[in-house]
Amino acid sequence: MPQVTFDADRCKGCSLCVSVCPRKIIVLSEDTFNARGFHPAKITDPSVCIACAFCATMCPDAVIKVEK
Ligand code: SF4
Ligand code: SF4
Repeated sequence: MPQVTFDADRCKGCSLCVSVCPRKIIVLSEDTFNARGFHPAKITDPSVCIACAFCATMCPDAVIKVEK
């Protein structure tokens, strides 16, 4: 199963990764804040991730790492 990890404290909650994920499995954590005061992005269901890395490529702050 692909591993998608987020350096959550660097996330600015811009939702670009949410919008490009073809499986629609990235959401912003509405119930938590990171060190910068934003709702950080997270993955909901890694089992359906196809490791396309669109999320990591799109993130302007290099928050996301995708490993097959
Ligand atoms: S690697 Fe692709 S399918 Fe997996 S979370 Fe990122 S955008 Fe979605
Ligand atoms: S694209 Fe990067 S900075 Fe924007 S919400 Fe996703 S992980 Fe956070």
